[in-house]
Amino acid sequence: MTTISLNLMNISHSDTLSKVFSGYTDDYEYTADGIFRRIKPPICLDCNIWMIHNGYNIHYKEHLGGVKVGRYLCPKCRKSLEEDFSFWEKIKSAFFGTLVKICQILRHNHVSLEEMELLLAHIYPRDGDTIQNWIKGSVQETVIPEPEEVQIVHYDEQHPKSGRNQKYRLTLLDGVTKKPIADEIHDTKNSDTVKAFLRKHLNPEQSIFIVTDLYKGYPNIFHEVFGNKVVHQFCLFHLNQLIVNDFPRNATMNQELMKYKLLDIFYDRSQEVQFLSRKAEEEIGILNKGNEPYNDWLEKTSYLFTQFLHNRELKRRRNKENLKQRSYCSSVIKFNNLMAEFDYFEAPVRRRLLKIEEYWSNLTAFYFVDNAPATNNAIENYYSASLKTQRKSQLREPGLEIQMKLAAMKREDYFGKPKMTLLKAFYMFIPFVDWK
Ligand SMILES: [Zn+2]
Repeated sequence: MTTISLNLMNISHSDTLSKVFSGYTDDYEYTADGIFRRIKPPICLDCNIWMIHNGYNIHYKEHLGGVKVGRYLCPKCRKSLEEDFSFWEKIKSAFFGTLVKICQILRHNHVSLEEMELLLAHIYPRDGDTIQNWIKGSVQETVIPEPEEVQIVHYDEQHPKSGRNQKYRLTLLDGVTKKPIADEIHDTKNSDTVKAFLRKHLNPEQSIFIVTDLYKGYPNIFHEVFGNKVVHQFCLFHLNQLIVNDFPRNATMNQELMKYKLLDIFYDRSQEVQFLSRKAEEEIGILNKGNEPYNDWLEKTSYLFTQFLHNRELKRRRNKENLKQRSYCSSVIKFNNLMAEFDYFEAPVRRRLLKIEEYWSNLTAFYFVDNAPATNNAIENYYSASLKTQRKSQLREPGLEIQMKLAAMKREDYFGKPKMTLLKAFYMFIPFVDWK
């Protein structure tokens, strides 16, 4: 235990000081003048005689404070030696470690460096370059344990009628082979039935990636069965169906444009958006000037758009292409652009955007697991017994690594309950604070 000489200035900090110096033996002292040193100076290794106390160096950290670290001098060879001050590095790294974690969380939520700089100005001012280096360095340093083999499965239900009786068909499909793992008919479909079904056919000890439609009850059921072993993907195809159903059948061109802007988040619909943007502008003109009966115009234009869609689909089919899946980064951008105009949208659009935001991690989980599907189409195909299969390769843009790694860190609970808050880390500096 370091001997701490108390004076009027540091008496109230004795608890903190003994924590700060807890790693040191009885040979050390913290003097009434605030110098940290050995009570008895060390021996000069060259001359083999006792050194003498010889003042101190000040180690200072902006906004936090400073500490005086004792120096020793050999009376014979005049060699100077500074005491080890790893305690100072330790409380600094506890403080900055916590601050960097805050920045990681902000970055994971797509806060820009400029915004982080603004925010940090209220806590511990740093410029954007420093913040960027903090995040980059700390993220690259983080080692995430190799994932164990992940089982990829699809889960879905059908509600067939057997005569007058409502039946429930529960199906599990292997995500790789597309072969059924289990396919059972039950009389009920409450959460206990589903849980028992999952427990019976899947290993709750193994990590699992499971795709379902957007039914609200699933996350809880999966959590109860698999705990933190489950990554749950909501089917993007099902999301797109819900988006389509958000709009009336005889939608205006402006509504049609909004629909495709929503569909454009996860799949590249830029051509459709471009087409509809022009038509929506034209629509405003027609409604304002009224040179042409609006209903006739809308009917004609809707027909043109249907043709446009049809031609695009034919082209895809000819080239054996699927609708192009956006990269994670470009989905983020598309979504953020829509959220920026949130207030201008009609209520159904706003509701849908909020839902997408709420379930963002469930909608984008597939980006982060190798060969994971984004949709439940496999199971739909199995149900309809058709043989259409699709396998989308994951596009991974360079420069996305940090974002991906942050998402992985989020999943591995690196942002979970912290061991230490920033304030607790700061308490350690109080004895050293320079209040000037
Ligand atoms: Zn010496």
